[in-house]
Amino acid sequence: MATLAAPPSHGQTLATSTKLLIDNQWVPSLSGKTFATINPATGQELAQIAEAEAADVDRAVRSARNAFERGPWRRTPATERGRLLNKLADLLEKHADEMALLESLDNGMPLSIARAVDLPLTIAQFRYFAGWADKNHGKTIPINGDYFCFTRHEAVGVCGQITPWNFPLLMYGMKLPPALAMGNTVVLKPAEQTPLTALRLGELILEAGFPPGVVNILPGFGHTAGAAIAQHMDVDKVAFTGSTEVGHLILRAAGASNMKRVSLELGGKSPNIVFADANMEQAIEGCHFGLFLNQGQVCCAGSRLYVEESAYDEFVEKSVARAQRRTVGDPLDPTTEQGPQIDSTQFEKVLSYIELGQAEGAKLLCGGGRAGEQGYFIQPTVFTDVQDDMRIAREEIFGPVMSIIKFRDIEEVIERANDTAYGLAAGVWTRDIGKAHAIANNVRAGTIWVNCFDVFDAAAPFGGFKQSGMGREMGEYALQQYTEVKTVTMKL
Ligand code: NAP
Ligand code: MG
Repeated sequence: MATLAAPPSHGQTLATSTKLLIDNQWVPSLSGKTFATINPATGQELAQIAEAEAADVDRAVRSARNAFERGPWRRTPATERGRLLNKLADLLEKHADEMALLESLDNGMPLSIARAVDLPLTIAQFRYFAGWADKNHGKTIPINGDYFCFTRHEAVGVCGQITPWNFPLLMYGMKLPPALAMGNTVVLKPAEQTPLTALRLGELILEAGFPPGVVNILPGFGHTAGAAIAQHMDVDKVAFTGSTEVGHLILRAAGASNMKRVSLELGGKSPNIVFADANMEQAIEGCHFGLFLNQGQVCCAGSRLYVEESAYDEFVEKSVARAQRRTVGDPLDPTTEQGPQIDSTQFEKVLSYIELGQAEGAKLLCGGGRAGEQGYFIQPTVFTDVQDDMRIAREEIFGPVMSIIKFRDIEEVIERANDTAYGLAAGVWTRDIGKAHAIANNVRAGTIWVNCFDVFDAAAPFGGFKQSGMGREMGEYALQQYTEVKTVTMKL
């Protein structure tokens, strides 16, 4: 247990386990090693966390295997799995303020965002998939001959889940509920920067009454604990969210080991397209939100902002003014819109992209440097005169850096929007329904938002085309990631 210093104004004592959750026991890592998690708003250490490595992954996989093959989970009826997921959702609701505060301290996201976005969407997914637990079933199939043929949708088995730091709780919300609803067991490795809400969630999982081994939680590093999961011969499936670069490593490890099932939610460089006929005030605010949300650390951030020539100057002027009004500061202050980047590595990376943009010839209209004296805050930054071949327009920056690019007509912008290795999401702003459909049909991305951006719902699938990933999370399609189809044919 670690007790964390929460600001007195929030009137809460924050405490969470700092050990590994294996077989429903809180245990130290076998090596005894620990690592620090910090508060990115101050750079100060919040707690020392037990550090899982390959040997701990082995232990957790044995527990998950036992729960799946021989333990109670195999015999737990689907309705009971749904009940447990709903119970966990109730507990998350009960502890939502505390969870949001923990998330904000560990990740740096504004508390208001954690409370308004992270928590409700996470809870909604537990409830949504609780409902699916007893509703995902097979078919009877009229095959030729004197046979009775039917399919069963069965759990895949032991699932490894590896998640990033940008929306920690939301990632557990996207991965745990569909896996558990379908009867799988899980070994979860949260990102090393943000283990606290995963550990507190582990305590709530015990309180809800999930049997031993069903959910194991192992904070640790990617190249050790994460790689051990991806390579493990007794893990049946790995679900990964993170960078495209590591996504390639996961695929390779799965292929080189036991051909475990793989689902991937990876990076993006999403086009957000503004036509001159759009409601300009809505488009400017929507594009601001679609880029700067969560300090720009959003996989589907609208980071290639295409604006039609005739509206370009007005859009630029008003977007710069909006970025300059953006409030950057203490994540716990309710008026704060933007907190710090997650750590010094990301902070340096974003600043180096800002330097690169200037060197490439883009025009820096606002921001461009550190904000404040401590922590990892960056000023909201806007570039104009950005060209498609600049690295700031091609690579994922994952920071508060907007690139505004000019376009002439719809055919041209569709081609340019698709000229990328990514395909996670896209946005379009227009009053012309024909243009909206043309973009929705022709831009190759997993999600298209029309006159809105970053609208998520537990029931709406999310995932990438091309190198933005494989498979879908959220919604009914997520069930496919956690089930195998079995065909049974009986001679009559
Ligand atoms: P990352 O470096 O790929 O890390 C993601 C997770 O993978 C972390 O838990 C990390 O461990 C682990 N990992 C690293 N190397 C590994 C390896 N060799 N084998 C197994 N696991 C390994 O990504 P990030 O920097 O944390 O997150 C930012 C990226 O995630 C961005 O590219 C963003 O677009 C993407 N993202 C995508 C989505 C989506 O839904 N498509 C959502 C959020 C983020 P550590 O703890 O050691 O880092
Ligand atoms: Mg942290």
